[in-house]
Amino acid sequence: MTQYVYRFGGGLSDGGQGDKNLLGGKGANLDGMASIGLPVPPGFTITTAMCTRYYEDGQVFPESLKAEVANGIAHIEGVTGKKFGVAADPLLVSVRSGARASMPGMMDTVLNLGLNDETVVGLAAISGDDRFAWDSYRRFIQMYSDVVLELDHGAFEEALEIAKEDKGFTLDTEMSATDWQALVAKYKAIVADQWGKPFPQDVHEQLWGAVGAVFGSWQSERAKVYRRLNDIPASWGTAVNVQAMVFGNMGDTSATGVAFTRDPSKGDRAYYGEFLINAQGEDVVAGIRTPQYLTKAAREAAGAKPLSMEEAMPEVYGQLAKVFDLLETHYRDMQDIEFTVERGHLWMLQTRAGKRTAKAALKIAVDMANEGLITREEAVARVDPAALDQLLHPTLDPNAPRDVIAKGLPASPGAASGIAVFDSDTAEHRAELGDAVILVRTETSPEDIHGMHAAKGILTARGGMTSHAAVVARGMGRPCVSGVGSLAIDAKAKSFRVAGREVREGDIITIDGSTGEVMVGSVATVEPELAGDFGVLMEWADKVRRLKVRANAETPLDCKVARGFGAEGIGLCRTEHMFFDAARITAVRQMILAEDEKGRRTALDKLLPEQRGDFAQIFEIMAGLPVTIRLLDPPLHEFLPHAEEEFNEVAEAAGVGVDALKRRAAELHEFNPMLGHRGCRLGVTYPEIYEMQARAIFEAAVEVAEKSGAAPIPEVMVPLVATRRELELMKDVIDRTAKAVFAEKGRTIDYLVGTMIELPRAALKAGEIAEVGEFFSFGTNDLTQTTLGVSRDDAGRFLTTYVDKGIYARDPFVSLDVEGVGELIEIAAERGRKTRPNVKLGICGEHGGDPASIAFCETIGLDYVSASPYRVPIARLAAAQAALKKA
Ligand code: PEP
Ligand code: MG
Repeated sequence: MTQYVYRFGGGLSDGGQGDKNLLGGKGANLDGMASIGLPVPPGFTITTAMCTRYYEDGQVFPESLKAEVANGIAHIEGVTGKKFGVAADPLLVSVRSGARASMPGMMDTVLNLGLNDETVVGLAAISGDDRFAWDSYRRFIQMYSDVVLELDHGAFEEALEIAKEDKGFTLDTEMSATDWQALVAKYKAIVADQWGKPFPQDVHEQLWGAVGAVFGSWQSERAKVYRRLNDIPASWGTAVNVQAMVFGNMGDTSATGVAFTRDPSKGDRAYYGEFLINAQGEDVVAGIRTPQYLTKAAREAAGAKPLSMEEAMPEVYGQLAKVFDLLETHYRDMQDIEFTVERGHLWMLQTRAGKRTAKAALKIAVDMANEGLITREEAVARVDPAALDQLLHPTLDPNAPRDVIAKGLPASPGAASGIAVFDSDTAEHRAELGDAVILVRTETSPEDIHGMHAAKGILTARGGMTSHAAVVARGMGRPCVSGVGSLAIDAKAKSFRVAGREVREGDIITIDGSTGEVMVGSVATVEPELAGDFGVLMEWADKVRRLKVRANAETPLDCKVARGFGAEGIGLCRTEHMFFDAARITAVRQMILAEDEKGRRTALDKLLPEQRGDFAQIFEIMAGLPVTIRLLDPPLHEFLPHAEEEFNEVAEAAGVGVDALKRRAAELHEFNPMLGHRGCRLGVTYPEIYEMQARAIFEAAVEVAEKSGAAPIPEVMVPLVATRRELELMKDVIDRTAKAVFAEKGRTIDYLVGTMIELPRAALKAGEIAEVGEFFSFGTNDLTQTTLGVSRDDAGRFLTTYVDKGIYARDPFVSLDVEGVGELIEIAAERGRKTRPNVKLGICGEHGGDPASIAFCETIGLDYVSASPYRVPIARLAAAQAALKKA
């Protein structure tokens, strides 16, 4: 029979072997900590396999689970000496979720479970603290009603507010034991009223209710959104952890806190964290009270008064510091830890690999390799390539003027400017309309996840560095400033006031998540610094990487950025982008609207020197490296004039009448331009266009070779080829032009002619096509579109549903559909190589910058990937990781 419950603590472990897939991250590490002798409250984990089965069976538990859970409770009772549901010395437990991958705040938790009208009296007697017992009971009723009974939590909050108002209190701490007792009676009345039944007194009923609710929260809306954003499959399920409660709210020798073994924002080797005296766990994370610093150094650096834990509780702090070191050595990674001190006794509640900014990830990986804790290869494997994105974007120009109106905590680095928006729905809506948005909230909760995702930056008035806003923003790579206490937000009026200034919805503000500054207006930015840890890790990555990395770029600026980021050539230069230039568009339109070849040639003569200039600049920047230039690809109608004056301009340039032009424009209309007169079909019908482009390429190449001595290596690429014959015709035009130019200039240049593989027919007939083409570049944007029969421009409307329903694991335009499109690529590579063993193979669709797709390219042995300039470092790292995995 399958074992669904694994016990831990009190010197016992059922030996889940730290298996995160089975026990979830939290459960595996609780077991791990208990196994190395750390003080962990005893408990048990119900496995993720049970979650999967629970859903398969229609949300019911198998009969056998009852005995296993009873056994688990007996284990906790045995270790603690307390009894579940027995008033004399009642056992209270926490019930928490724990998926394979951490999903902070996304799923449900119930604390203080096991309290009822009788055990609360027992708890009061045993603890000698009536106030604590009744406060715990009311917290439990509130949490249970919200999470398990799904009652409106507003009613409970309101009852608490009224109770405080009646007494003239402002703080919860002013409430006495009898006040809490009276509130418990009110809470129970609310439950009876809203739920139609009294609050459950049977502790076993409470337990099963909570276990069901935690499993149920796996399919909550917010959990689904989080999974989608973080590529966590729905099939994984969550585990449930049931554990003896320990209390950080039993007076001034009790506390609760969260900590990182290194700074999660900068990566420095220093303990880092926050704690609250006399508080329960959720108080720190929820950002309701502003926590105190863990270390004296951090407190002094921040100029804060309230004592750090190091100063207030030196003995326990000493123990904690030892635990930090033990955990880092055991897990060989930076840890994120939750702990509670109950009347001077330290308890570890959680440890996991800490989420960190890209900057910290780099520093920690490089430092740990230098410390000898991990190898260089492990360091390379540790850093999430996608997270580098955070580092590769501009930051605020230190010399630009800034109108700073407030300062908060530097919760997630990077800078962002945008319009202030005060709720998540509006943030999403305005972002869809194309606005850059800064989401401003008193504090964020998991309900804000869509707004945070849509926003360029997040600003909160409350909460510390480990608040929901801070943790989630860091994970998403969004800049965030949190805990700006001086911000008076009026969410209803959609405005905030600070330092005598008012900011309303729609006003532009800037936040700097690296310094915590909040500014009015937008501020100039500067390019990122790529030396230091970044450079070191990239060097280590390049040592293990096999795939070459090129860039998709066509402007001199993009080419420079790409080269700076380490691009080893250009994999795709889309020449049509050069056609949109204001100085040329009229000539381009004249070419398109010409009635015959003669008319087209007149216009092309005007474009030739322009294109030659473009290519010469690119060749100079990429000196000595291969540059793949793709001949004209898009449907001609994309260049057509629209406005009256545009028609007039073209008519004048071409010396024809406006009416004739309009008629010609109408003739060019297509029903499905993506499958219409585009790609090499343009070259086949109007060879003079490709001839002009080829001439520009070769003339520029000769010119640069003569000037600089470093001959460029042009790779002339024909788009949207389906048949061998198309490529043959186009190659003929290109070769003839090359010959002519070389004869005129008295100098030859090495070059290649190849094709994009972006149609299924081309992939299938790659063997024949390779007889002509010297290289293939997989255009996976079009290949995905044509293989799936899904328009790349219209997919947005329904693809999210497809991903939600698991039809595609990820958006196939973002991450390659390895099973389908991937098979075509494999076929093409194999057949192409059979004909021409040294055929050069690369990929230049958007997938060239996606780590999972890059891993696939490594598996099938492509020669290079080509990505947009800012993704070049991501691709270098991903290629290194793929090589390490394959080895
Ligand atoms: C492709 O189709 O993958 C490609 C790179 O070309 P484009 O995106 O320009 O169609
Ligand atoms: Mg294409």
